[in-house]
Amino acid sequence: MTKKASVSEVGMSKKKSSKNNNKVLISANPGFAIDCSDDIFSEVSIPKKVSPDCIFCKIIAGAIPATIIADTSDVIVIKDIFPKAPIHYLIIPKKHIASIKALDASDAHLMGSVMLMAKELFLQSDDAADFRLISNNGPGAGQSVFHIHFHFLAGKKMYDF
Ligand code: AMP
Ligand code: ZN
Repeated sequence: MTKKASVSEVGMSKKKSSKNNNKVLISANPGFAIDCSDDIFSEVSIPKKVSPDCIFCKIIAGAIPATIIADTSDVIVIKDIFPKAPIHYLIIPKKHIASIKALDASDAHLMGSVMLMAKELFLQSDDAADFRLISNNGPGAGQSVFHIHFHFLAGKKMYDF
């Protein structure tokens, strides 16, 4: 069964509706909370692998506070603590994987969930009509937290690469 996403409180309007089965909280700013999960989330198994010294694992476990934008069975989205754009979210798979370099075939569905979450963030934010999705892999590429994550950047023109 599917139904349209519902807006609990309006802080920004939705571009489009999405189908859902499971509950997913997306809260892009105070006063805004919507139920906007998609069918794909129903097939996701909850990852158990964590690393005790990892800051993102601690955020996922609730041991360190963060501004949570979305929370599904397999990914969490938080606001970056040092934003590089008006909208700077981190899409973080809940499974502890150091980087794209450490992915294996069993992570394919999880990576699909990341891409579909990026689309959901685009759908739910009026200021994210265009966006960048960036993953730094390795210190030489600027990675500073070694738990795979994807920067969702929007809200300003980004012509440089
Ligand atoms: P990267 O440098 O690509 O590994 O990205 C790590 C990102 O995590 C940086 O943009 C940091 O600003 C961000 N970050 C680090 N600690 C926190 C935290 N406690 N809450 C939110 N974002 C964080
Ligand atoms: Zn971790």
